[in-house]
Amino acid sequence: MTIQWFPGHMAKARRQVTEKIKLIDIVFELVDARVPMSSRNPMIDEIISSKPRIVLLNKADMADDYLTKQWIQYFKEKQIPALAIDSQTGTGLKQIVTLSRELLKEKFDRLASRGVKPRAIRALIIGIPNVGKSTLINRLAGKNITKTADRPGVTTAQQWVKVGKELELLDTPGILWPKFEDQLVGLKLATTGAIKDSILNLQEITVFALNFLKENYPERLKDRYHLEEIPEEVVSLFDEIGKKRGCIMSGGYIDYDKTSELIIREIRNEKLGRLTFENPSQYKENNH
Ligand code: GDP
Repeated sequence: MTIQWFPGHMAKARRQVTEKIKLIDIVFELVDARVPMSSRNPMIDEIISSKPRIVLLNKADMADDYLTKQWIQYFKEKQIPALAIDSQTGTGLKQIVTLSRELLKEKFDRLASRGVKPRAIRALIIGIPNVGKSTLINRLAGKNITKTADRPGVTTAQQWVKVGKELELLDTPGILWPKFEDQLVGLKLATTGAIKDSILNLQEITVFALNFLKENYPERLKDRYHLEEIPEEVVSLFDEIGKKRGCIMSGGYIDYDKTSELIIREIRNEKLGRLTFENPSQYKENNH
């Protein structure tokens, strides 16, 4: 993540999003389907408050399909409609307009009954850095209209981007911060590549990732690294993968940095398949 969030920045980002929300009918809250909870802003409910919202589970192409379905169900139980999308290829994007229409039907019918001319639905895309906001806006708009840099603090005149006849988006998305004071959130975001490696220790990220894979996707781990059995201790697992992949320093020691880089790169490049790092069952008891 390129942005350093300080309390001042957070307050400003929040103020900007709050201002934008006043202009729109519906919020598209973009989250990463691989980490639907960690890629959300901790104060999102409060910030969006009364506006209708659709949660968009982006990068669904990289996530575990089974768990994506579970997550959609999870949000549904919280009365929040959710859709799985892939902003890079455009998969699932058509449903966004249809669902928005449905959710706003009453409001627009009411306006029509008061003689207000029909107009396009106005929406704001909102999410943490790297979740795919620019990619989604560009995909929906059909041409390159957004700047890729995330720069909260830069105020520009609001512009609308047309998506067909029925939808208009604010051209700059709302950027919010993740709950990064929670170390586990940081580790998950780092594993998926949402935050810069330099912020966290790479070996620490890899230990987290290996423990996670060991627990949740042991067969994939075995297949990828040709392991007969997965060692009990994560250090031994590290050693074995390092050895198998030739990450050895002089003197025959395992090069842990090199091994870490390799493992994390392979996870991010889907060499271990489509992975989801969070299961809704972990969140149901807590009131998230
Ligand atoms: P932003 O900071 O929220 O605007 O995120 P970007 O739009 O810059 O996207 C961050 C990275 O995620 C880029 O490398 C995109 O190509 C990638 N990306 C965005 N959406 C998707 C998606 O649905 N699937 C995949 N595989 N990659 C995506």
